[in-house]
Amino acid sequence: VFFESMSNPTLELVDIQAVSEIAHAQGALVVVDNVFSTPVFSDALGQGADVIIYSSTKHIDGQGRTLGGVILGTREHIRKVVEPYMKHTGGSMSPFTAWVQLKGLETLDLRVRAQAQSGQAIAEALEGHAKLKQVIYPGLPSHKQAALAQRQMGSGGTMLAIELAGGKDAAFAFLNALDVIVISNNLGDAKSIVTHPATTTHQRLSPEQRQTLGITDGLVRLSVGIEDTDDLIDDILNALNAV
Ligand SMILES: *Cc1c(COP(=O)(O)O)cnc(C)c1O
Repeated sequence: VFFESMSNPTLELVDIQAVSEIAHAQGALVVVDNVFSTPVFSDALGQGADVIIYSSTKHIDGQGRTLGGVILGTREHIRKVVEPYMKHTGGSMSPFTAWVQLKGLETLDLRVRAQAQSGQAIAEALEGHAKLKQVIYPGLPSHKQAALAQRQMGSGGTMLAIELAGGKDAAFAFLNALDVIVISNNLGDAKSIVTHPATTTHQRLSPEQRQTLGITDGLVRLSVGIEDTDDLIDDILNALNAV
């Protein structure tokens, strides 16, 4: 059973413990993509998952410098399943990339906690804004899985999704009016980053599939960085005024 513990980009949560119990009762292995939840807030192994994967390109590098991934599991799983695959396919991180990412790990906890604190403040500042149809953030009481987010992560995390009421034109006007926050498809970075999923990360899906997933033309994904919180809120409010 494979799932993202927090989904990209609409920030839906999966109850890791509940799904693991159901899967294990059928003898299935549970593999969790824990990128959006982060290693700081999500102890997926402790909640019953067997294998955890991270794109270390994101919060672990933390400054958009290198590409990489991490697979965590039992020694037996790594030795018998992962290592033979790596040997035969050649996927191997360069020493320099590994060094950069290990340096990133040294500050991961500080960065991610600061990002989540700003994320909470931004979500609270934006909720109910006239230009927005919705603010999706697991740390808001209005999030449909707010209780699960608190139980599973103890935090709303570092990612937000906001839906502009004016659709794609409004979303693009908003993105272009931002000054501090940059447009890019990375996430988990020390710099705050915005993405328009419908025309980038999820452009290959059909309009119907995007509709089903809630990826509307007005949806903007925000990865919160470690800049001053008030600067970020001002930047977003100014850009919304320009819409
Ligand atoms: C980026 C990302 C991936 C893929 O990672 P790469 O480093 O690009 O291979 C997988 N899952 C999630 C949730 C991601 O954000």
